[in-house]
Amino acid sequence: GKTETLLEVNNIEVIYNHVILVLKGVSLSVPKGGITALLGGNGAGKTTTLKAISNLLHSERGEVTKGSILYRDDPVADLSPAELVRRGVIQVMEGRHCFEHLTVEENLLTGSYTRNISRAQLAQDLDLVYTYFPRLKERRKSQAGYTSGGEQQMVAIGRALMSKPETVLLDEPSMGLAPQLVEEIFGIVKSLNEQEGVSFLLAEQNTNVALRFAHYGYILESGRVVMDGPAAELRENPDVKEFYLGMS
Ligand code: ATP
Repeated sequence: GKTETLLEVNNIEVIYNHVILVLKGVSLSVPKGGITALLGGNGAGKTTTLKAISNLLHSERGEVTKGSILYRDDPVADLSPAELVRRGVIQVMEGRHCFEHLTVEENLLTGSYTRNISRAQLAQDLDLVYTYFPRLKERRKSQAGYTSGGEQQMVAIGRALMSKPETVLLDEPSMGLAPQLVEEIFGIVKSLNEQEGVSFLLAEQNTNVALRFAHYGYILESGRVVMDGPAAELRENPDVKEFYLGMS
C-alpha cells in the first residue's frame, strides 16, 4: 500500500541572529514506519533542521523565515515542544542531556510528564524501555551523572520513549561513543522501529553506520540538501563513497 507521510519539511530557511542564513531551503519527508537519516559534516545544518522541526530555535536566536513544517498535514511551526510531544514527536538532543543528579529510573519517569497515566501504565511503560535497554534496568538506581556515555545516550532515548512517541528526532546518537556501543544503540533503534513501529529522523555525521540502519537518507551541505535517496542506493553512489564513506 501507499506509505503514509508523517513529517514534511518544505523548503525551510533558518536565520540566526537576524543575519546568519544557515538553512537555505531544506525539504525532506519522514514516512510512517521508516528510519530516515539526515547526513552531512560538522556545521552542515543537521541540528538546526531538527530544532526547527521541534521549535527549539528561539532560545538560540534562530528563526524559520521561509517554508513550512507539517506533521500529519498540520502546520506545527508554532507549537510548543510540549504540544509537539503530545502529537507524537519528540527530540533527543545531541549530547544526551540527562538529569545528572537523578537516578536512571527517575530520568526515565520524567519522560512521561506530558501524559496523565496510571501507576500501572507507568510501570508497564518502564518495563518496555527496560526490555529494549536491559543495561538501564541493571543501573536503574544509579545516579545518571555517574553512568557511562553510552548509558546516558540510552537514558536519553529511553526517556523519549516514555512519551510514547510516534516519531523520534534523534540528534547524533553516535557522538563520542565507541564503535561497539554505536552498533548496539543503532541496533536498538532498528528494533524499536521494526517491533514498536516508531519512526525516526536521525541526524548523523557517521554516514557509514547511519546508511546501514536507515531506509532513506538526505545529505546536507552548507544548509542545502545536495542528494537524497534510498539508503542502499546512497551506499553505492560513487560520490557518497568518496566523500562520506572514505572509499574511492
Ligand atoms: P554538528 O554536527 O556540529 O551539530 P550540524 O550539521 O548539526 O553540525 P548545525 O549545528 O545545525 O550543524 O549548525 C549549522 C551552522 O549554523 C553552523 O555553521 C553553525 O556555526 C551555525 N550555528 C548554529 N547555531 C548557531 C547559533 N545559535 N547562532 C549562530 N550560528 C549558529
